[in-house]
This record gives sequence, C-alpha cells and structure tokens, in this order.
Amino acid sequence: MQTTTTTLAPPTQQFSKTAGLLLISLGLLGVLVAAVGAQAVSPVLTGGGGMLVFTLGSLLYIWQSRQGKALSEQNNQVWRQDATARGASAWVIGFVLTGFYVLLYWFPETLQGLVQAVEPFSQWLRNRPADQWFLYGTFYTLAVLIMGVFALLKYRSSRYHIIRTISVMFFQLGFAFLLPGLLLLLNKPEFYFSYFWPLKYDYLFPSTVGYLVQDGAALGVFMVFWGAVLSFLATPVLTYFYGKRWYCSWVCGCGGLAETAGDPYRHLSDKSRSAWRWEVAILYPILGFVIITTLALWVNSWSEGKLLGDLSGGFASTYGFFIGAIFSGVVGVGFYPIMGNRVWCRFGCPMAAYLGLLQKHFSRFRITTNGGQCISCGNCSTYCEMGIDVRWYAQQGEPIIRASCVGCGICAHVCPRGVLKLENGPREHRYAATPLIKRDDLQILS
Ligand code: SF4
Ligand code: SF4
Repeated sequence: MQTTTTTLAPPTQQFSKTAGLLLISLGLLGVLVAAVGAQAVSPVLTGGGGMLVFTLGSLLYIWQSRQGKALSEQNNQVWRQDATARGASAWVIGFVLTGFYVLLYWFPETLQGLVQAVEPFSQWLRNRPADQWFLYGTFYTLAVLIMGVFALLKYRSSRYHIIRTISVMFFQLGFAFLLPGLLLLLNKPEFYFSYFWPLKYDYLFPSTVGYLVQDGAALGVFMVFWGAVLSFLATPVLTYFYGKRWYCSWVCGCGGLAETAGDPYRHLSDKSRSAWRWEVAILYPILGFVIITTLALWVNSWSEGKLLGDLSGGFASTYGFFIGAIFSGVVGVGFYPIMGNRVWCRFGCPMAAYLGLLQKHFSRFRITTNGGQCISCGNCSTYCEMGIDVRWYAQQGEPIIRASCVGCGICAHVCPRGVLKLENGPREHRYAATPLIKRDDLQILS
C-alpha cells in the first residue's frame, strides 16, 4: 500500500486537532441547550449555530487526523481504541444514537427545541414548518457529508473509493434531501427518487400510487412510472452488469451512511457461520413479507376491501413498525458502534435481499482472487462489513460470488498483496477458481 509523509509539524497539527475538538464540544453544547428547550436564548442561535460550529470543528479535526496520517496507518489501533472496539465510549455513542431514534419515532414532542432550530432552514428550502423528519433529514445528510470527507481522506489513494464516496454524498444531498424539499416548495408530492420498492415499500402500495396520480398530475404519474421502472427493469439490468454495488455502495442513503459515518465500525461485523444463518433466516422472509403485503393491498384495493378488509392494512402497519422503525432506525444505526455498520443492510433490508438474489444468480459481478499471492493476513475478512470470510476464498483461489457482498471494495483496498479484484466479467466460467500451485505440482527442474 502506498504511503505519504506527514504534511504538518506535529505541534501545529496537534493544535489544530485540539481546536477542532473545542469547536465540536461548543457545537454539541449549543445543540444540547436547544434540545432541552431553554427559551432564554433563541434555539436557532444555539441549535442552528451549534450545528454549524460542530460541522466546522468536525471537518477541522478530520482533516488534521486523516491527512496527517500515512495511508498505510489509517486503520491502526481500531481494535485498541475504546470508541471502535466496543469500549465504554462505544456503548455511550450507541445508547445516544438509539435513544435519539426512540425519541424520533415515539416521542417527537421532546425534540421540539431542535425542530425549532432548523425552522428557518425548512422555510427557506420547503416553504413550510419544520418537523421531526426534516430535523432527521438534516442530521442524516450532515452525517453523510462530514463523514464523507473522512472517507475521502482515509481512502484518498483509491480512485474507486473517491468516486463512490462522492456518489453517495451526491445522492444523499441532492436526491434524498434537497430535491424532496424543492418538490414541497413547488407544492408537489414529496418523493425520493433514489429509493425504490421494496426498500421504500409503500411506493408501490395502492394508496401511494393513487395519491401521486391524483395529486401530482403528470409529475405524479412520472413518479409512479419511475418507481416501477427502477424496481423491475433498471435494478435487474444494472445488477446484471455491476452487481448490487451500483445501489448499495453508490446510491442508497442507508448504504451512504454506512460507508461514511459507519466506516470506523466496519470491522465489528460478525463473521461467524451462525451470523450468516441468521442473515438468511431473517432477510429473505422480510422480502417475502413486503411482496405479500404489496400484493394483499392491491387485491384488497381491487376488491374494494371486500376480500381482506382491514387485514392488509394491518400487514402494512406491522411492517412499518417492526421493520421500518425498530429495525432500520433504532437497531440499524443505533447499534453501529456495537454490531458494525451494515446491520440493517445485512439482516433487514428487503432491497438488499432482492439485489443479492440477482447478484448471485444473474450477474456478471464477482471478486476474483489470485490465491497464490495470499499470505493469509486476514485484513480482507476483518474489514468486510458484510461479515464475509474473504480470506477463505482467497486461500482457495476461488471467486467471491456472495449475495450479501455490497461491492464496497474495501477488502481489495486493505489487501497488502493485491490478491482481490472486483470484476464485471463474462458469466461463463464465473465460478472457476484461479489455478493454485500446490506442493506436489512444484517442479524446480524438469
Ligand atoms: S467481500 Fe469485499 S467488496 Fe464485498 S462486502 Fe466484503 S469487503 Fe465489501
Ligand atoms: S488481505 Fe489479501 S493477503 Fe491478506 S488474507 Fe486477504 S487476500 Fe490474503
């Protein structure tokens, strides 16, 4: 792996890092004051100003700590630092994140101070009052952008990682935050063009389709068309050529957060066989549940409620509560510091299940392994966020064709021997292993 030297003298660098930490602390203090609803000072000043100061401090700290570190040392100490090794601070971060999601979903009135802090921004962007979901979108986008800078600096030697990080930052900011806000500003239906069924499960529910077609006029019809084409045509075609990485590692907001804010926790993914069994046992039934719910809702709609009555609506709200709220939010992000950054993608996302089936059985994508070069260091397995034992494949010289692989490419990036290569080759001989030189085959003189 290529290395660089430190660009700043240590005292200057240390001073900048300390200044960054100071700004982060001040920013958090401002956000806290806004959150507790202290009315003596404007929440826009404390909360909004706090977010700005926090962002500046974070960028300064990230710049100094990443740019000043050699490329080969970016992962040093991850298993020794408290925050990235399930230490006390990791549990505190996990608890705060989980608590935030609980408040967001079930006690949004407790976040009113923070909601007021983003009120002017909401008025400017959407011409309507802020709510807890706008606050969440603002936090989420800030997290992807700030930690996107972290990822850009950490993986700055790789063109693949630079492009894919810029891609997730672009889709989160443009397609999942600014564009939906702009649609509301123009009095059009709020729509997320970067999310499709089955991840955005309600986009193909009859109630959503009816609302879009009736209220959105020509644009609403286009939105329904866009969602259906992306789900049933573009997804298979793009996955055939590029594997599921085109979505999971380049476009999706959940993947975007995992690849940026979740990157420091990628090594925490469970690599055990039982974790894989849980993955299969949970992920595919969730996809089945979304398909059954969608079909049941359409059957009910066509029969005008005579066939299933309220039952199909019950399906939808059950899914929304257990999977949409508890799994994707509370567990999926709140448990980053304990279970790794792809808990939701690995165990819960119906889109990942759909893409995974296509990737495994109907795609050109694979990771080829030059097994003769492998020194069994295990870096690839350690940093695989999807819990794949990449080293095992490398030792056999076998290509990695796994439904769960999101094509992040980190295994190849951290391999010191250049063993792994992400490819979109022809499907013929896709499973063929690279010939290994075995001991009995070795001939020095013949
Ligand atoms: S196998 Fe490699 S490319 Fe696939 S998810 Fe794991 S680290 Fe990412
Ligand atoms: S990182 Fe490379 S050398 Fe190390 S085990 Fe994986 S494939 Fe082998």
